[in-house]
Amino acid sequence: MADNANGTEEDPTPPRVRCRECLKEIPSSEAEQPEAEEYALYFCGLECFQKWHERAEKEIARREGDNQD
Ligand SMILES: [Zn+2]
Repeated sequence: MADNANGTEEDPTPPRVRCRECLKEIPSSEAEQPEAEEYALYFCGLECFQKWHERAEKEIARREGDNQD
């Protein structure tokens, strides 16, 4: 029998997510999460979000340029 009479092994640390830009781990409650995206993205701050967003927009523009109908 385990010493722990509670029987529960709850993790006291809050759930963490990783910043999409700098990969820093942050508590999900503190993460910036842009709602416009179709899938969950987390950022440690708006600065990282803006960096990522700028790059994403360039990538999309390039892809659309390649794929001319
Ligand atoms: Zn970051």
